[in-house]
Amino acid sequence: MKIKNVKVGIVEAPLITPFKTALRTVHSIKNIVVTVYTDEGHIGIGEAAPTHVITGETLQSIRYAVEEVIAPAICGIDIDEIAILCDRIDKCLYQNTSAKAAVEIALYDLWAKKYNAPLYKLLGGYRKKITTDITISVNDEQQMVNDSIAAVKRGFSILKIKVGKSPQNDVESVMAIRKAVGPHVVLRVDANQGWTAKEAVKIIVQLEDRGADIELVEQPVHYSDLAGLQYVTGNTHTNILADESVFSPKQAIEVIEKRAADLINIKLMKTGGISKAQQICHIAEASGVECMIGCMLETKISVSAAAHFAAANKNVTMVDLDGPSLCVEDPIEGGPSFEGENIQMTEASGIGFLIEAYLAK
Ligand code: MG
Repeated sequence: MKIKNVKVGIVEAPLITPFKTALRTVHSIKNIVVTVYTDEGHIGIGEAAPTHVITGETLQSIRYAVEEVIAPAICGIDIDEIAILCDRIDKCLYQNTSAKAAVEIALYDLWAKKYNAPLYKLLGGYRKKITTDITISVNDEQQMVNDSIAAVKRGFSILKIKVGKSPQNDVESVMAIRKAVGPHVVLRVDANQGWTAKEAVKIIVQLEDRGADIELVEQPVHYSDLAGLQYVTGNTHTNILADESVFSPKQAIEVIEKRAADLINIKLMKTGGISKAQQICHIAEASGVECMIGCMLETKISVSAAAHFAAANKNVTMVDLDGPSLCVEDPIEGGPSFEGENIQMTEASGIGFLIEAYLAK
């Protein structure tokens, strides 16, 4: 079963409400979808999100990378040589991690289909069900409180609160949400690099002293400021999660060695796909560092691949795969089921999509 050709298209999905972080505001998802065909007529599917403020990639750059660089590097290779395929993708161009992820996801889909098994089982098969949080965008305090109450009413028990746009308001917004949702909802806080190290310590200590009971604080400082991240981790009691600071296994080793963070957020769009995500997960596990699986603004196509990865691995203990929950409707049938906060794996082979139905649309 050899790789015959690779096709690139667009997948669009309007969001229920605008997605706002310290870095950007987005109203609708518009991503690249990659379909990989084998010489025996099998099809694998993957997706890339053009998150230019984080990975530096655009729709145009992803299309070019996949069509002109990655596809020629993998055509003619047998799907059984999955490690060789992943190595070719890794080596054929620098960075462009989302473009690489889209192709890798499609290849893993094909590989698992060849063995007629669900992907999560071939990757480790640790659990069948995972529980995701949902993002509360950064807005004025009342809007954030209203959105949090609405999310809890939809059945979500874990909220990821976006902050970092105006440090002076962040403590009050989080405290207001805690008061509104009560003590039993888990609150995660994501500053998306929006604070300085000193601001972060001041804000987190205030949240600790006022009893906000925050599970973790994600990426408080600029991605390149590892010394700042280390300062925040060393001067607060709350667990600190590295997101934008960790793309590669090597960066994970550096963060772990420096004790710059307590936890690592793995996203397929940062790692370049499943193979490097597995490496980071295992490095972290051997170091006693638990991982979150996260996503960019992605539809069910690539988020489902992330769900398979998360279900497979014991060390993925936190799940932030709310992309499909933020969309008005799913672009594709099949795959893991997303029901509120519950993501349930199925026994369908590969990632589990009805790709033929998608392509017929
Ligand atoms: Mg984040």
